[in-house]
Formats: sequence, structure tokens, C-alpha cells
Amino acid sequence: MNKLTPKASFRKLAAIYEKMVAQYGEAAGAIDMTCSGCTDNCCLSFFQHHTYVEWAYMWEGLNQLPADRLEEIKSKAQDYVDQAQRALSAGQRPHVMCPLNIDEEQGICGLYKHRLMICRMHGVPNMLVKPNGQQIQFPGCYRCQELTEEYEKDGKMAPVVNRTNLYKDLVMLEMQFVGKNLRQLPKVDHTIAEMIVLGPPRLK
Ligand code: SF4
Ligand code: SF4
Repeated sequence: MNKLTPKASFRKLAAIYEKMVAQYGEAAGAIDMTCSGCTDNCCLSFFQHHTYVEWAYMWEGLNQLPADRLEEIKSKAQDYVDQAQRALSAGQRPHVMCPLNIDEEQGICGLYKHRLMICRMHGVPNMLVKPNGQQIQFPGCYRCQELTEEYEKDGKMAPVVNRTNLYKDLVMLEMQFVGKNLRQLPKVDHTIAEMIVLGPPRLK
């Protein structure tokens, strides 16, 4: 498999993200869901990301920010990592605002165009069939679950985004982006804050 340049990889990733946005929009539109006025900002959720290509693309976005803004984000990211570590050591699930969020009340992402796959899919019902055949279902966020219940009261079925093909495309792109070193490199399992503190991924 031919290795892609970072530029070509990022173009492909942006195209995968566009498909996600379209499918998210269809599912959210069907149940009339928006994030407006949400009281449970999902950017406070503790979750990890798993691809080098998304990590690198996030840094492509970060590197376009003014230097002082980037320094502020790095400092928030370090705080996040420290707070998360304290929570985990106390046996609690961290509940810390993502360092890229720029408005806690409105839940505005400060790196919207470069936000990662899990950020894009969190809200709506979605499912994934893994290569081993295992099917995983995600019910969507609390608001989505309430709206889905309401929508399905009179027998209709709310749409579920099948992200299997998007996931396959992302896995393929990861291989094309990293190249033959992928098997030798450590598995990516980082929060956004960790990806910021660590800096852009090293692929050698
Ligand atoms: S990257 Fe953006 S959308 Fe994702 S958790 Fe952070 S602020 Fe929220
Ligand atoms: S996806 Fe759901 S939890 Fe996240 S901000 Fe929107 S409504 Fe709130």
C-alpha cells in the first residue's frame, strides 16, 4: 500500500469528516435535535482517540492558531492532564472541560474544522460492526435519547448512523498515512489534552 503525504491524508480525512457531518445532520434532523441550550456539554466527557492521522490533523489546525492562543491551549491541556490524573487516582471518572473548548456555556469547539471523529459522532444514535463481526451500539447523548424516545412513541424508528464504512475508511487512511511502521508504533489511546501535551505524533 502506497504511503500518502500528510497533505493528501488530510484531504482524505476532511472528506471522511464531511460524510460524518452529513450523516449526523440527517439523524439529528429527523428527531429535531440541536445542541442549543444543552446543560450537559459533551466536551466535558472523558474519552480517548485512536488514530495518528487524526492526531496529526488536529495539530495541523493547532499550528494555524496565533502563538499566544496555542500557548494558552497547551497550558489548559497540561491542567486537564493533571486534573484527570488526580480524578483517576481517586477512582473517579474525570469531568474536565476539553482544552479546545472556547465557551463552556455554549459548548463551542475552538478547533471545529479539525475536531476528531468521536467529537463528531457523540450526539446521535450510531452503530459500528467491527472487523470481527462484533456490533457496537451507541445510543447518542442524553438529549438524543430523550428525543428518540419521544419520536419512537408512535411506532416510528429514529435513524441510526451506521459508521462501519466511515470507520473502515479511517482505518485504511491510518495505514496510508503512517505507512509500514504502523505495527511497530505504540497504539494511540489518548485524550485530546494528552495529544496536545505530547505534541504532534512521531511516526518513526
Ligand atoms: S475537540 Fe472540540 S468538540 Fe471535541 S471535545 Fe474538544 S472542544 Fe469538544
Ligand atoms: S451532542 Fe448532546 S450532550 Fe453534546 S452538546 Fe449536543 S445536546 Fe449536549
